[in-house]
Amino acid sequence: MTRPAVRDDLVALEGYHSPQLDVDVRLNTNESPLPPPPEFVAELREAVGDIRWNRYPDRAATALRKGLAERHGVDPGQVFVANGSNEVLQTVLLTFAGAGRRVLTFEPTYAMHSQIARTSGATVVSRDRLADFSLDASGVLSAMEVADPAVTFLCSPNNPTGMAEPADLIAEVLDHGRGLLVVDEAYGEFAERSAVDLLGEEVPLVVTRTYSKVWSMAAMRLGYMIGPRWLVAELDKVVLPYHLDALKQRAGMLALGHAADMESRVAELVESRRSLVSALSGLDVEVWPSQANFVLFRPRRLPGRDVWQGLVDRSVLVRDCSSWPRLENCLRVTVGSRPENERFLSSLEEVLAP
Ligand code: PMP
Repeated sequence: MTRPAVRDDLVALEGYHSPQLDVDVRLNTNESPLPPPPEFVAELREAVGDIRWNRYPDRAATALRKGLAERHGVDPGQVFVANGSNEVLQTVLLTFAGAGRRVLTFEPTYAMHSQIARTSGATVVSRDRLADFSLDASGVLSAMEVADPAVTFLCSPNNPTGMAEPADLIAEVLDHGRGLLVVDEAYGEFAERSAVDLLGEEVPLVVTRTYSKVWSMAAMRLGYMIGPRWLVAELDKVVLPYHLDALKQRAGMLALGHAADMESRVAELVESRRSLVSALSGLDVEVWPSQANFVLFRPRRLPGRDVWQGLVDRSVLVRDCSSWPRLENCLRVTVGSRPENERFLSSLEEVLAP
């Protein structure tokens, strides 16, 4: 028997790599260092007993969509939910990208945008961000003019560089661009601005969010997007039936009842981010400003890979971006709990010591 051949356009594809090492301090995947409130966990435990386990879940996730719509002041028909925002992105790309279509990204950015676009069969066109990793509207628009993309990704705040896109840039791109604009706001709650205010039925914009970061629910795999009603109706045709299980729908709803806890955890992390950036600025590293729950930095003297290894040797794991295009020697650290941040900083100081 011969092994069946993988699709020609997937042969060269490399998977998503983020090593899950067994360390004391994990600051590599931008999760929340804090668990959700115990009351939420107690409510979820009770919800397990209420679920009619022999029946398929509500296919339309009606209650969860309604809850999210209320939170964002939109109509439930504008909300689409799936198993993590990655699955939301995948559904958007399966619906609007695919073979014969192009997807535009601005690098460096979240690697899964181009990865999922390729698995959808689309051709990825990548343009570079400016030297400071920002974007200018005219650059984005001229890239759109040339590439004629079905879907363009912006990521705000951008992973792994940290900055949020200005609302006027997004508005200008929407006014003069072409195709569908996806603004990935996986870290949106940490930032001062959001593209949610720009949404409208005739605006080709979707904004994606996740429960994995601010809601402290990475283990649950739940994400959503907000966009025009007609667009959500198209996604509903593409996504698998009953894709979102009943417990997850309940968990997403229950979490919304603890929004104040979430907001105070976010405020705490934003404060910790300020301290972390200021401490890093005192070390022999270049630091980029961040509106997310992570910070990009580059050791000035030592190779980034050696610094990453030095931190792993001290049981601290950060993200090694040092071999990524345009990010030579760069590392990305997630804002952790205060003790975790201190352990990271003291370990980094040791590794950088001459
Ligand atoms: N978008 C960005 C920018 C991310 O960094 C991540 C997680 N690393 C995701 C989307 C995916 O998040 P999830 O699937 O956990 O919702």
